[in-house]
Amino acid sequence: MRTDHDVAVIGAGPIGCAAAIAFAQRGETVLLLEANPRASERFAGEWIHPSGVRILEKLGLSDLAALTENGPRRGFVAHPGDGSEPIVLSYPDGMTGVSFEHHKLVDELRRRAVSMPEIDYVAPAKLSKLEPAPAYVDGDTGAEIAIKAKRIVAADGRRSGTRRLLGLPDGSVGISFMAGIVLDDVELPVEGYGHVLSGLAGPILSYRIGANQVRLCLDVPASATELRHDTNALYAAVAPALPAPMATALAVSLKTRKPAWMETRFQTRTAYGRGNVALVGDAVGCTHPLTAVGISLGLKDVEALVESADTADYARRQKARARVPEMLSNALYQVFSDPRYDARAIRQSMFDTWRTSAAERRRTMALLAATDVRGSTFATSFFRIGFRAARKTVGTEMREGHWSRTRQTLARFASWSTWPIAGLLPGYRKIPAHLKAAGH
Ligand SMILES: Cc1cc2nc3c(=O)[nH]c(=O)nc-3n(C[C@H](O)[C@H](O)[C@H](O)COP(=O)(O)OP(=O)(O)OC[C@H]3O[C@@H](n4cnc5c(N)ncnc54)[C@H](O)[C@@H]3O)c2cc1C
Repeated sequence: MRTDHDVAVIGAGPIGCAAAIAFAQRGETVLLLEANPRASERFAGEWIHPSGVRILEKLGLSDLAALTENGPRRGFVAHPGDGSEPIVLSYPDGMTGVSFEHHKLVDELRRRAVSMPEIDYVAPAKLSKLEPAPAYVDGDTGAEIAIKAKRIVAADGRRSGTRRLLGLPDGSVGISFMAGIVLDDVELPVEGYGHVLSGLAGPILSYRIGANQVRLCLDVPASATELRHDTNALYAAVAPALPAPMATALAVSLKTRKPAWMETRFQTRTAYGRGNVALVGDAVGCTHPLTAVGISLGLKDVEALVESADTADYARRQKARARVPEMLSNALYQVFSDPRYDARAIRQSMFDTWRTSAAERRRTMALLAATDVRGSTFATSFFRIGFRAARKTVGTEMREGHWSRTRQTLARFASWSTWPIAGLLPGYRKIPAHLKAAGH
């Protein structure tokens, strides 16, 4: 193994592997360190939007799409949950995504990285310090070994130790908990699409991860500890929202396998590193998985980093690009999880607008796929949907003579109006108060 490298990449998760491959393809030598090679066996990102798939293709990994079984993923289907027909939202311009188990993606990326002569892969190996000189601890021998590299790329995930060593604040905040459950031998209501349903406890996401396997992601509030410990209670809270065959498959799955619980967290994407150390992927920031954008944003980090002159240049490029996907994730999660009447009215208005407007479906999917990251698009969509919800709610109250309630209703909708306003203010990131941590 070489002792000097052009680049040291910390963490061989999906984004660290992609970064190592991207630098190696430019002819640079790379030291790729992984603290825990089995970390990829946990429940984590499985759906990749077309913007992420495009970058994988650019890295020469187009055949990764072959890991997706039963054809490409064409978009999402929203289930209003009121007995009305589901709404199909396809990616624009025939674009497609992929979905498969997280470890399959990481295993395959690692296999590609290890096969490249420019990359030296060391595992288990944990970055231990940056100052006075960077070093890692070899997990097999316990020896501390100096890292001699011109540039360090930290892809060590949402609890990034590199971030801490750089003195950047860990401003991450817990949002909720998500159970990952595998359903065997069940059909999705529309194959080739991810499905979003409103459960009694929180939003539900479901998509195919294999020829015979479907993933069910159940989001529950952090306060709902009973649901995390009692599978009967979990089933009772979720099954009524599911199509009958999926509810039956859930009952079978809960009898044989334990759900894999993961905390969902938020950290705003504003710190991209310092000096010769650049952060990529979740080490920069993370959002709720409802919009499934983490891997795609991380791949965009890699794309921008290899094209940037230095860390400051990279940070300048990426800060603006991640603002709208981050706000979209926070806004959509609020709309899907807040039980109050104004949020429910906005959710209903969103379904009505999607059902009747092909242009709005297209706009939403371009935002979701992060192919359109313009604040004006986010603002236009949110304003239309919110205005329609407010007009309908206030109209009903006035017709029914509930004048006294109207003032409060208008105040509640006014608080939602800060989302489209934020979209229009360049550089401004709206962060809901409960997701603000020290350092935001
Ligand atoms: C429940 C859940 C569902 C999700 N679903 C989706 C989805 O469908 N689509 C999507 O795009 N995103 C999703 N995400 C987000 C996605 O998982 C992350 O964005 C993605 O895994 C980030 O990749 P990463 O390589 O930056 O970090 P990680 O995947 O966390 O990898 C970091 C790696 O660094 C290693 N490491 C840590 N510290 C050190 C150290 N000091 N030295 C060496 N190595 C170290 C770790 O062992 C790990 O292997 C989901 C997240 C969760 C929690």
